[in-house]
Amino acid sequence: LSERLQGAMTKIGKKGKITEADLKEMMREVRLALLEADVNFKVVKDFVKKVNERALGSDVLESLSPTQQVIKIVNEELTELMGGQQEPFQFSAKPPTVVMMVGLQGAGKTTTAGKLANYMKKKENKRPMLVAADVYRPAAINQLQTLGKQLDFPVYALGAEANPVDIAKQAVEQAKLDGRDLVIIDTAGRLHVDEVLMTELKNIKAAVNPTEILFTVDAMTGQDAVNVAKSFNEQLGITGVILTKLDGDTRGGAALSIRSVTGKPIKFTGQGEKLEDFEPFYPERMSSRILGMGDLMTLIERAQQDFDETKAAEMAAKIRENTFNFNDFIEQMDQVTNMGPLEDLLKMIPGMSNVPGLDQMKIDPKDVAHMKAIVLSMTPAERENPEILSQSRRRRIAKGSARSLAEVNRLIKQFNESRDMMNKMSKGNFAGMEGLLGQ
Ligand code: GDP
Ligand code: MG
Repeated sequence: LSERLQGAMTKIGKKGKITEADLKEMMREVRLALLEADVNFKVVKDFVKKVNERALGSDVLESLSPTQQVIKIVNEELTELMGGQQEPFQFSAKPPTVVMMVGLQGAGKTTTAGKLANYMKKKENKRPMLVAADVYRPAAINQLQTLGKQLDFPVYALGAEANPVDIAKQAVEQAKLDGRDLVIIDTAGRLHVDEVLMTELKNIKAAVNPTEILFTVDAMTGQDAVNVAKSFNEQLGITGVILTKLDGDTRGGAALSIRSVTGKPIKFTGQGEKLEDFEPFYPERMSSRILGMGDLMTLIERAQQDFDETKAAEMAAKIRENTFNFNDFIEQMDQVTNMGPLEDLLKMIPGMSNVPGLDQMKIDPKDVAHMKAIVLSMTPAERENPEILSQSRRRRIAKGSARSLAEVNRLIKQFNESRDMMNKMSKGNFAGMEGLLGQ
């Protein structure tokens, strides 16, 4: 998924302005990337529609950095698709908190029961008890007992002949006696969802009234994971999802559709066979991971400021010390022209619209070129010390730059005015301007 999306984004990312056709192309790539990642068809359709509407609805295409804006929207919508916020694990007001681990065979229930117990002890200071309610596979009880020994948690087991419902019920009673405040019940799975399994799980649920029923699912199973989640939720009513095996070569599609298909949040993820390979699920991080946005995010942030920070800081110092000169003026002019229309830039700076006279400060790119020609006709000494620009020097500059003397005068006047204004602003309290200047 990442590769495809990244490909699409960098391809278009090289462009400055984009057209509606570009946007369409971008959305096509996003759509294909999601479908390829095995995201549910309907989810993809809704998703692309939403992103498209947002992109067209705002002035994204007119903005300074349309591509970054679109990527930002995609990122936000992906995050939203996965629930937006991290959904915390719920504890019972009356301990012990009972958790049922449910899911198909091989999903990672037993391993994850151990991981969850380990996590809850470390992060929440809980005293967990593990319960072996998968009596069908002899190895299952052993597996949990080994985990319990390794982690030093008690494992409640009654052997292979006992009824899973009784085991669960008695385990909760035992936990109360032993002062265990978290009971994690490892249940049996099947290869497919079937009635016998569901009936057993429903009975356990009725007997112990769990606070959390965590559906554990192998992220590598893609679309299947979503269908199974759906039927577990419909029949049993899950409270959350744990997505395992995210360390593998997963296509990530399951993470994207599960929430919108079941309405239930992904609460944790497993990323390896070790007990520590387990963490809460953060939709935003997952979205960044999917988009491969480590660098992309920084790029967006850059684009939003778009002012080179070091240069901005230098500039700010110069303005404060009143040593801002024509060399800086040119440099700033270049930055501004690289950024797009000045009006747009100004609009982005909070508080800027309140500055008197600023709305008349329109600059045309052609004018910028002329101004630059004038400045370049100045000697280095003149650029550094605008005070020495006498009438004779100005006449020489006008000739050298093929601009009129009036124009040269106007530029110098403008320069002085803006220098004064910036100086005043840097001393005053124009929050926006200070932000721009990197203070
Ligand atoms: P259960 O049948 O649902 O109880 O699944 P198990 O807990 O026995 O896990 C099945 C297999 O998946 C085991 O070999 C686990 O080590 C492995 N497994 C579980 N979670 C993860 C994970 O997050 N990453 C990887 N790579 N393997 C996992
Ligand atoms: Mg198991």
